[in-house]
Amino acid sequence: MIISGTDLAKEIKNDVKHRVEVAVEKYGRPPHLVVILVGEDPASQSYVKGKGKDAVEVGFKSTTITKPDTISEEELLNLIDDLNKDNSIDGILVQLPLPSHINEDKVIAAIDRNKDVDGFHPANVASLWLKQKCVYPCTPKGIIKLLDKAGIEIQGKKAVVIGRSNIVGLPVSKLLLDRNATVTIAHSKTQNLPDVSKEADILVVAIGKPRFVTADMVKPGAAVIDVGVNRDPETGKLCGDVDFENCKDLADYITPVPGGVGPMTRACLMENTLECFLNKFEQ
Ligand code: NAP
Repeated sequence: MIISGTDLAKEIKNDVKHRVEVAVEKYGRPPHLVVILVGEDPASQSYVKGKGKDAVEVGFKSTTITKPDTISEEELLNLIDDLNKDNSIDGILVQLPLPSHINEDKVIAAIDRNKDVDGFHPANVASLWLKQKCVYPCTPKGIIKLLDKAGIEIQGKKAVVIGRSNIVGLPVSKLLLDRNATVTIAHSKTQNLPDVSKEADILVVAIGKPRFVTADMVKPGAAVIDVGVNRDPETGKLCGDVDFENCKDLADYITPVPGGVGPMTRACLMENTLECFLNKFEQ
C-alpha cells in the first residue's frame, strides 16, 4: 500500500481552514504567518512559495520577507526581534539553510518560542524531550500522522530511524519512542546497516542520499517512510532516499517521493501556526 501524503495533507488543510473560519468569527482576524527568506537559493525559494500558497489556501494572512544573502546576522536578529514584538504576528519561520556568515542556532533561538511554528527553538526541543506541551516539529509530526492514517500500529513495534538530524531523525525517534515503539537510531557510522534496518517493522529514512535504501535493507512487510528529497543524478527528477521501485513490493506500506512526507510537513506547519494563534488567545 502506498501511503499518500498528498491526500492526508489535503484533509489536514481542510480541517485547518474550517478552524480558521471559526477563529476569525471568534477573534476577529486570521492567524498571520511570516516567512523570512534569505538569499536566492532556488530550492528555498520554492519551499517558501509553497508555504505561502498553503497559508493563503487555509485562510491565513501570509507575509514573505525576502532579504539578500548579504544581510548581516545582526540585521536578521533585529528583524526577528521586531516580528516577535508585533502582536499581530502569530508564526515566524526562517527558511534554512542560512548563508554561512549567519549562525543558524542563534537565529532559531531568537524567535519567540510561542511563534516558533517550526518547533526548532531550543525551549521547544527541550519540552519535546521532557514530554511537556510544545510545538512538534513539522516533518516528524507529519510522519506520525501518516502512520496513524494508514492504521499502522506503533506500540511494541521495532522502529529503525536512519539519520539523526535535529530536524528529522532525532525528533521522529522521540515521537516513536513516546508511542512505545522500540527505537534504533542509525547513522553514517553504523556498522552493517542492512542488518540493522532489516530488523525494522517501521523504517524511517532521512539521510539525503538518492535511492540509498534498497530491497536488501528492508524487512518483508515493513512500513517504509521515505523523508529524503533529492535530485536523481541521472534524470534530475525528484527522488527519495529509498529506491521506491526496488522496495515497493517487499514493504506492506511505503511513502512515495514526491507526494509522501513533503506535503505533510507543509500541512503540519499550517496546523502549528493555527495552534500558536489559538494558544495566544486561549491561554
Ligand atoms: P542531515 O542533517 O544532512 O542528516 C543526514 C543524516 O543522515 C545524518 O545523521 C547522517 O549521519 C545520516 N547519514 C548520512 N549518510 C548516511 C549513510 N550512508 N548511512 C547512514 N546514515 C547516513 O539531513 P536532514 O536535514 O535530516 O534531511 C535528510 C533528508 O530529508 C534530506 O534529503 C532532506 O532534503 C530531507 N528532508 C525532507 C523533509 C520533508 O519535508 N520531506 C524535511 C526535512 C528534510 P551522521 O549523523 O553520522 O552524519
